[in-house]
Amino acid sequence: MASIISHPAVPLALSVALGPERIPPALTVVACAASVLPDIDALGFAAGVPYGHLFGHRGFTHSLFFALMTALFCSLFARRLGTTPWIVFLIVFVAAASHGFLDALTTGGMGVAFFSPFSNRRYFLPWHVIQVSPIGVSRFFSERGLRVLRSELVWIWLPCSLVAMLGLGIRKLGLG
Ligand SMILES: [Zn+2]
Repeated sequence: MASIISHPAVPLALSVALGPERIPPALTVVACAASVLPDIDALGFAAGVPYGHLFGHRGFTHSLFFALMTALFCSLFARRLGTTPWIVFLIVFVAAASHGFLDALTTGGMGVAFFSPFSNRRYFLPWHVIQVSPIGVSRFFSERGLRVLRSELVWIWLPCSLVAMLGLGIRKLGLG
């Protein structure tokens, strides 16, 4: 995984870029949760499910299908989130699906099973730029953890901030 604190950068950037009229704060919170939800499979990993298994780490919960199901489920609560089902669906889908894509940019572990449950083949993107985050808190606060954070700042937070600023700028200029 990229670390659990960096996955929400994607929905946060979308939220700032598009503004609270389009993405209400409650939806931002749900989308942030959706962006880290795929790593729930770390529980299975800790319980001994093999990495390459369908429900192993970066398996089913990191797939596009799982992102789709999560987005559909959340869209049922659109009214409570203060917007339309389509907007909830799109934002939650992008947030949840972005998780696998960020993981597929990392330097370690197995690839991501994007097409699970239909295929358990694991994929990486061609660029491995994000230092893989250690699983577990104690190892996270270490020299290696710092290196992870540095690479995530450059490869996740920086581009996400640019998207956020660009969207904010366009909105403030009254163009969007
Ligand atoms: Zn992950």
